Amino acid sequence: MLIVQKFGGTSVGDLERIQNVANRVSKTVKEGHQVVVVVSAMSGETNKLVAYAEHFSKNPARNDVDMLLSSGERVTAALLSIALNEMGLPAVSMSGRRAGIITDAVHTKARIESIDPTKMFDELNSGKVVVIAGFQGVDENGNVTTLGRGGSDLSAVAIAGALEADLCEIYTDVSGIYTTDPRIEPKAKKLDKISYDEMLELASLGAKVLQNRSVELAKKLNVNLVTRTSFTDEEGTLITKEENIMEKPLVSGIALDKNQSRISLMGVKDRPGIASDIFNKLADSSVNIDMIIQTVGHDGMTNLDFTVPKNEVLDAKAVMDKFLEANEIQDISYDDSICKVSIVGVGMKSHTGVAAKAFSTMAAENINISMISTSEIKVSMVISEKYAELAVRSLHSAYALDK
Ligand code: ADP
Ligand code: ASP
Ligand code: MG
Repeated sequence: MLIVQKFGGTSVGDLERIQNVANRVSKTVKEGHQVVVVVSAMSGETNKLVAYAEHFSKNPARNDVDMLLSSGERVTAALLSIALNEMGLPAVSMSGRRAGIITDAVHTKARIESIDPTKMFDELNSGKVVVIAGFQGVDENGNVTTLGRGGSDLSAVAIAGALEADLCEIYTDVSGIYTTDPRIEPKAKKLDKISYDEMLELASLGAKVLQNRSVELAKKLNVNLVTRTSFTDEEGTLITKEENIMEKPLVSGIALDKNQSRISLMGVKDRPGIASDIFNKLADSSVNIDMIIQTVGHDGMTNLDFTVPKNEVLDAKAVMDKFLEANEIQDISYDDSICKVSIVGVGMKSHTGVAAKAFSTMAAENINISMISTSEIKVSMVISEKYAELAVRSLHSAYALDK
């Protein structure tokens, strides 16, 4: 088999753990498989580099940020390749560029446009383990780009797709996908399987165990994706098509996202096209909008509330200030102290009362819900950040996920 193995930050967190990864790769090769490894930066490294940049500037040029951040993954890739060669296992390390990963030019959250796997195949065919620095590519002009936080997952899935690999294993610090973050609720249960759609919702709604775009791509390319731990041989969780899952629980998991801010626009000119103007301008600045609420207008004015990722508030503010100047909006406020809790499950499609139960669970804990959004397979609620963990645990038990 051709297997892509991705190791996250904790799995390569120090030199001993990198050696541990080398041993695991070597074992897989000895079992007769071809292996392509994708690595993250050592844990804490990317945050450290972000802090270095912020030491000099609150809003550093994004191309510089990418030059800086992409270095973390290259360090790990090189070290792992050195360790493998030392063990007598021929290996070669590659940057995103060398691996043929071409992205668009949206620095710090670039999208992969294409992958030319020629170099990777050349090295594999000469009997080497190929170790690739995750999280990065280059745009068509050769500038280094990064794929958004957690983006090594996306590198792994995209590479597995380009190589038509038989399996893509994501090694992390938990043994699979749980009913909720096991660090918040120790009673969380590991799932044997989860559908792409549910996993995509969980990831998009804050479960950082997999980057959401990696799941989206895995679904599109039909990549066999497994999440497991690098510390033991425990079986992980298979992320697969819904039809491969016999048992469909009402709710499969609870996600928490603390990385959202709420932006409230007050006194918005209530005219046709205003929402389109605002959200198109935000999209042009690559701001990701999540929940939107528009209240009933009066006197030609309305209020518009929406949420954006915390690290995109500055970009959103730059856009909104233009609307303020043009008198299309009277006032803006920003709220950082919110979070979003969500319940996810394909079983919801065919059942009623699932959302109502979420609301009454919040009511029983005296937690006020300030925004709600629903889809076929999820219910999301914005609440005060100070109730985040309490909300997750109450919902987890309300839907009997600990049973
Ligand atoms: P890596 O560095 O390996 O990419 P991450 O820190 O990005 O690892 O993701 C793993 C973390 O995701 C876990 O330590 C866990 O706290 C968190 N997590 C959140 N939701 C879940 C969930 N439903 N199942 C498993 N882990 C989860
Ligand atoms: N090192 C990058 C990050 O921390 C990418 C990754 O680990 O997936 O976001
Ligand atoms: Mg991650």
